[in-house]
Amino acid sequence: MQKFNCSNCGHIVYFQNVHCVRCGSPLGFLPERLTMSALQPTPDNELETIGEQPLRVHYCSNSQHGVCNWLMRRGDLSGLCRACDLNRTIPNLSDNGSTAAWAALEDAKKRLIYALMRLSLPFDEEIDGKPGLKFDFVSGAMTGHADGLITVNLAEADAVERERARQLFAEPYRSLLGHLRHESGHYYWTILVDRTPHIDKFRRLFGDERIDYECALSQYRAAGPPTDWQSSYVSAYASSHPWEDWAETWAHYLHIIDAVDTAEANGITLANDQDSANRFDSYSAEAFDALIERWVPLTLALNSLSRSMGHQDFYPFVNPSAALEKMAFVHGLVQAVGKERAVRRASGWHGEQKVLPNLSNH
Ligand SMILES: [Zn+2]
Ligand SMILES: [Zn+2]
Ligand SMILES: [Zn+2]
Repeated sequence: MQKFNCSNCGHIVYFQNVHCVRCGSPLGFLPERLTMSALQPTPDNELETIGEQPLRVHYCSNSQHGVCNWLMRRGDLSGLCRACDLNRTIPNLSDNGSTAAWAALEDAKKRLIYALMRLSLPFDEEIDGKPGLKFDFVSGAMTGHADGLITVNLAEADAVERERARQLFAEPYRSLLGHLRHESGHYYWTILVDRTPHIDKFRRLFGDERIDYECALSQYRAAGPPTDWQSSYVSAYASSHPWEDWAETWAHYLHIIDAVDTAEANGITLANDQDSANRFDSYSAEAFDALIERWVPLTLALNSLSRSMGHQDFYPFVNPSAALEKMAFVHGLVQAVGKERAVRRASGWHGEQKVLPNLSNH
């Protein structure tokens, strides 16, 4: 993620902040500019962004629950921002602790949506008759995806419960953001790969997804991953079925581009070919290799730093070349679709056409 500064005093601010700790200005995230902005009241008691090209704005109505700092243009009469508008079911706020769980879920969801916006991927529009993303945050539900609907079990927002599940499933890493990135991968498979010319390459890399899903999952739960899974997969769970391999690979791809982006934004560049004049933009990188050249030394350094603090590794995975080849496939699809959509939008296309470029069904 990029680095944000208060547009009033320049102090560094975080993505979730609602006030600048130095100057006290109210802050919000302006999705249309993908940036944080400080706000000031106008004489007629409204809010205006501070900085170039000020905009009259108001907070998303979920700000009243302390779970959203996104801003909307004055005149946008819908009460919810573009990210909160994706919620189908929110936690029951009369339950103790639900607001804290919801805030954690919103933070993770907004980091996902931020990435999708940086990549110019569709998420809130119908594509070839398929609905966009929606979210159910429900207690006692199974975390999963179906037809664009991502369900997250509220217990995953409880750090103790999540750690218990991580140990139960012998996972090296488990986070809300990881869940959301993974589940979004299932959605993007349906619009970027399924019934497109890319399905053949998908099957060559990930295997044939037409094998029985439930059967494959039961077998994985009973017998675990193959002993040599580390030579082909990004994680043990990825070996359970080609769809899970894709979703795990997708999640790791999003982990990598966002972590590299955050490092670059903060001046941490460890690649040999670094060019200090041009910040490397992992969200629009042409070459997958250039991304990995930055990622590998970064993870080695960050894992060492984590160990210096007595923490678990920052990135407790080693990606074999087979997994990187799958990730390069994800990268190619994402970049092709995102760039073409960005070009079309810049040329006056405003999203009325509901078909992805070059990916129409056949
Ligand atoms: Zn400030
Ligand atoms: Zn919102
Ligand atoms: Zn999955």
